[in-house]
Amino acid sequence: MKKQWLIGNWKMHGNLASNKALIDGIRAELPQPDERAALVVCPAFPYLFQLAELTRDSGIGVGVQNVSDHLQGAYTGETSPLMVKELGGSYAIIGHSERRQYQGENDGLMGRKALAAIDAGLIPVICVGETAEERDSGRTHEVLARQLDAAFGYIRTAHDKIILAYEPRWAIGTGIAATPEIVQTEHEFLRQRIAIRDKEFAAKLPIIYGGSVKVSNAVSIFSMPDVDGGLIGSAALNAKEFITIYRELLQTIPAE
Ligand code: PEP
Repeated sequence: MKKQWLIGNWKMHGNLASNKALIDGIRAELPQPDERAALVVCPAFPYLFQLAELTRDSGIGVGVQNVSDHLQGAYTGETSPLMVKELGGSYAIIGHSERRQYQGENDGLMGRKALAAIDAGLIPVICVGETAEERDSGRTHEVLARQLDAAFGYIRTAHDKIILAYEPRWAIGTGIAATPEIVQTEHEFLRQRIAIRDKEFAAKLPIIYGGSVKVSNAVSIFSMPDVDGGLIGSAALNAKEFITIYRELLQTIPAE
């Protein structure tokens, strides 16, 4: 059975007290994640070590929202994936649309960051997704193919060491999720494009969806055959909502 994923992107939210309250809330709701679906939280960098401590022996994974494309060196203000690993992180979100939009990150950089993350032993969560304008002008597949090829062009790794996230920019933080049909169409497109290079890898690769997932739409999106879980923004900041979405994800896993 293919493993499912629920990853919370806390963005630039939180402080020592609220982070602890959120993890306490998650653990009160769910003493131990189910082995069929990983549960991961990605706090802002300064709280990585706090989260690693708070989640010790809990079964909850911890990641970051960005990493440098270098492992070490004179890169002021950057954070090496090796440092993330040393402080207890296991995942790194790469190429999130807010970084593309506000920090001007491009496809090439995303590919290099993914490689550096893998070199350091992290699992990159590689985000791809079109803008509203790109979708409206019929360029969604052209954009997804370009982003995917840039990120996966360099990468040779096992299917369980990498996660792909389809995150249409127009659905992130807007409250308007993509319909389950759109999500399925784009996940299928991404999987087929990867299958050109490696069929088995493509079939096993987790492809998760992100963009305004909430309790009311999670089941319909997660039930789609090419969806292997979700990347959750605002709903991940509420323990009850996040765990309800997690339970909904479990509910969509077919019995063996
Ligand atoms: C995200 O930040 O990756 C995200 C999906 O945000 P939201 O769920 O708030 O749309």
